[in-house]
Amino acid sequence: MLIAAELQNLLEPAQLDGLEVTWLRADHATPKGDWAAIVPLLSRWVGGTELKQLTKLRIIANCAVGYDNVDLVAAEMRKVIVTNTPDVLTDATADLTWALILACARRLLEGIDLVRSGQWSGWHPEQLLGMELRGRTLGLFGAGRIGQAVGCRAVPFGLRILYTARTAKPEFERDTGAARVEWTRLVAESDILSLHAPSTPETKGIINRDTLHRMKPGAIVVNTARGDLIREEALAIALEEGRLGAAGLDVFVDEPAIHPRLRAAPRTVLLPHIGSATHDTRRRMAAIAVANVHAVLRGEPPLTPVYR
Ligand code: NAP
Repeated sequence: MLIAAELQNLLEPAQLDGLEVTWLRADHATPKGDWAAIVPLLSRWVGGTELKQLTKLRIIANCAVGYDNVDLVAAEMRKVIVTNTPDVLTDATADLTWALILACARRLLEGIDLVRSGQWSGWHPEQLLGMELRGRTLGLFGAGRIGQAVGCRAVPFGLRILYTARTAKPEFERDTGAARVEWTRLVAESDILSLHAPSTPETKGIINRDTLHRMKPGAIVVNTARGDLIREEALAIALEEGRLGAAGLDVFVDEPAIHPRLRAAPRTVLLPHIGSATHDTRRRMAAIAVANVHAVLRGEPPLTPVYR
């Protein structure tokens, strides 16, 4: 099997027992050959060309919950199973989303810069005033595993929760008081709009010039889902013009490149795609990916297939 070399330290040798492993570095192209399994990082595109070259491939065990780096149609046509790593990264990603919400609402980076610069002249009643959370509205675009975990964490902060998803979530509504609304209402009523839907043709660019104009002045946009849900230049302009309160982003359209205007925009908290980056979570993600390979190569059903 081919495994992303960057996962080597996260796997115990015993987890690879019985597998013949070729380590594949992220900066190396996907090779041609008769490997039966590949465990790619989310930065590796696995499409028609790659699948044509991996003639014996039986499984793509993506080491991420998102699988927009895999051409599902091409995989299905070749009867290659695709798996992901759901659940194990939900808490870590929801926690990081909250780190971004709080950093944006309470102007954390400006405070850190002020202290570090030596320019802080002491407590002032009007210094770095931020957004009080209690009574404000948190809008969740996508209320699956991570969106709901972010919503549950909002209850003790006293936020009203709105969400948009394809299907209703009655248990989530009962537990948190959340209400399901149409996208246009979510955009218009959110003080904090947090994105938790996958990247698909329907969701790409959903935060654009038009939606940004319809948001409340001073609202905060948070994205720990996928970068291409946002039109980055439009977001940068909304920040430059002072219409948007802040943006907290963990993901970008063309990682690791960041749109220069967005990188230079005011009131941003920009992180290097570390939503799931805890020791425990990254080990569990690697373990599930490899467990899926073991299952499929033994002729058993995969543990976490992305389609059935
Ligand atoms: P999930 O459980 O599948 O939840 C996705 C949610 O998005 C569901 O509520 C789904 O609605 C909703 N959705 C999908 N298409 C939609 C559309 N067109 N309109 C409205 N809602 C739509 O996925 P998850 O585990 O929470 O993960 C969410 C995303 O987070 C992943 O796809 C991944 O890209 C990203 N992620 C990023 C990091 C990071 O490191 N920053 C880490 C983990 C995950 P239904 O429930 O009605 O189907």
